[in-house]
This record gives sequence, C-alpha cells and structure tokens, in this order.
Amino acid sequence: MCIFCKIVNNEIPNNTVLENDEFLCFHDINPAAKIHVLIIPKKHYDSFDVIEPELMSNMTKFIHEVASKLGVRESGYRIITNIGDHGGQEVHHLHIHLLAGEYVGRLVGAKK
Ligand code: 5GP
Ligand code: ZN
Repeated sequence: MCIFCKIVNNEIPNNTVLENDEFLCFHDINPAAKIHVLIIPKKHYDSFDVIEPELMSNMTKFIHEVASKLGVRESGYRIITNIGDHGGQEVHHLHIHLLAGEYVGRLVGAKK
C-alpha cells in the first residue's frame, strides 16, 4: 500500500486540514512555503494523468473549501500537481500541492 493510502487508513499520522468522503487535505511534512498542504483523493490514482476528468470537478470544489478554511482566497495561492519522472513526482498517489501564506514566486520551472 502506498504512503498516502496509509495516511488515508490512519496507519501513518497526519495533520488534517479538512476531509470529506472523497478527499483529504493535510499539511506537507516538509513545507516549501508558510502554508503547504496536500489534497488527495482517498481512492488511489497513480497521478493526474490517469484520472477521469470528472474527478477534478469534485476535487476543485474541495480545493476551494480548503482555501477558504486556510483563509487564503483573497491573498492568493498556488496549486501544483507533479506527474511522473520529469514532473518530479515522488509519491505515486495523486496529490495537489497548495502553497500559500506568503508570496510564492511567479513561476515554477526547471531547477538544475
Ligand atoms: P511530490 O514530489 O510527489 O509531488 O510530493 C510529495 C510530497 O509529499 C512532498 O512535498 C513530501 O514532503 C510529502 N510527503 C512525503 N511523505 C509524507 C508523509 O509521510 N506525510 C506528509 N504529511 N507529507 C509527506
Ligand atoms: Zn495510494
């Protein structure tokens, strides 16, 4: 079972921000900004690349709820999902990073 499935099953502890039947949001263990949370479907999908488009509809609503709960909708935030080797994906369970709480830069590109 993958590490995020273990988090969903409460086999690994997490710092939960919000959850519902379908999705879970928790703080990243190694934050890259003042606020850095991860949003995942509770069901395992390897990455964004293999999902049905409809999943993103509910996930979008959930991300909006997370952003509201974190109080960052006015100040702004960035969402990122890494896909595969060139995308720098390390955990192969679909997750959306949400970065906020400070200016997080204009663009994320290749880092040599
Ligand atoms: P990726 O590089 O796959 O897009 O992002 C994986 C993210 O998961 C990283 O930002 C990493 O810090 C985070 N992470 C990895 N293992 C754990 C964990 O056990 N708990 C939490 N909360 N975050 C984790
Ligand atoms: Zn998983």
